[in-house]
Amino acid sequence: MKTDLRVKLVQYTPEPEKLVAAAAKLCYSSLAADEIMNDLDENNTEKFISMLMKLGHQSPVEHINFSFAIEGVSRTLTHQLVRHRLASYSQRSQRYVTEGQFQYIVPPEIQNNSAASAKFIEAMEYDQKIYDEITDLLYEDHYNLLLEEGKSEKNAKNAASKKAIEDARYVLPNACETKIMVTMNARNLIHFFSVRCCNRAQWEIREMASQMLEEAHSVAPYIFSNCGPSCVAGPCPEGKMTCGKMDEMREKYSYVKNNK
Ligand SMILES: Cc1cc2nc3c(=O)[nH]c(=O)nc-3n(C[C@H](O)[C@H](O)[C@H](O)COP(=O)(O)OP(=O)(O)OC[C@H]3O[C@@H](n4cnc5c(N)ncnc54)[C@H](O)[C@@H]3O)c2cc1C
Repeated sequence: MKTDLRVKLVQYTPEPEKLVAAAAKLCYSSLAADEIMNDLDENNTEKFISMLMKLGHQSPVEHINFSFAIEGVSRTLTHQLVRHRLASYSQRSQRYVTEGQFQYIVPPEIQNNSAASAKFIEAMEYDQKIYDEITDLLYEDHYNLLLEEGKSEKNAKNAASKKAIEDARYVLPNACETKIMVTMNARNLIHFFSVRCCNRAQWEIREMASQMLEEAHSVAPYIFSNCGPSCVAGPCPEGKMTCGKMDEMREKYSYVKNNK
């Protein structure tokens, strides 16, 4: 069964732009942090954040965090995502959750080719069948052994199921659907968007990064006002590997600059 990518910003630091402005102002002020916070209204916060982001003074934006719940993505995507080290992750476990009927992501290029699509679905169905068969075979071995070791039937069943799926999962494909929660601070998000909204990134993580930017921008528009692939804020850094579509990308992400 195939699924669609879903991104939800589930939690973020309250009043993110006010907090960043207060943190930055604290560096140059004799006032206490709470007095600085009290002095900040929407207008002067926006002005200050705009100036800060233009100057490229990024350390104050490390104070604010954004947590995204991501569903309907492949394990291929999450393997790429977790390479970003300055973030926190929680992912649904294949050791503890049985893939009774695993869902999978079909790349659009495969979906658009009926012969490739049929082969792909055949492979997924075969994977499911083998996963189920190996799970059953391993379950029997573990169950009998655990009973011999003196476990009750109930405990032996639970433990045998877990032991069986933790090894059976080795046959599951990269296409397997997964869920992950990721928390990043704004500085790392800005970096993440620069490399993962870029056309050089793979279609799936690019789509996810693009949705994450929309969500983050909706609650902190001045902090994320120059974000997206690197070419939104300056020249393309990809050299010979450039996609050559800078104008298209700048148009796509022009909404980030259109603040109130
Ligand atoms: C288009 C594309 C293709 C890719 N292809 C491959 C590939 O073929 N093979 C492969 O293995 N990976 C590949 N990657 C992954 C890439 O190499 C990085 O691992 C990934 O993008 C995370 O980037 P990062 O290290 O900048 O980010 P993060 O881990 O989020 O770190 C953010 C920044 O913090 C700093 N930082 C973090 N940790 C350290 C550290 N230990 N020491 C010093 N500075 C640090 C760096 O400035 C870094 O840029 C690819 C990535 C992209 C976008």
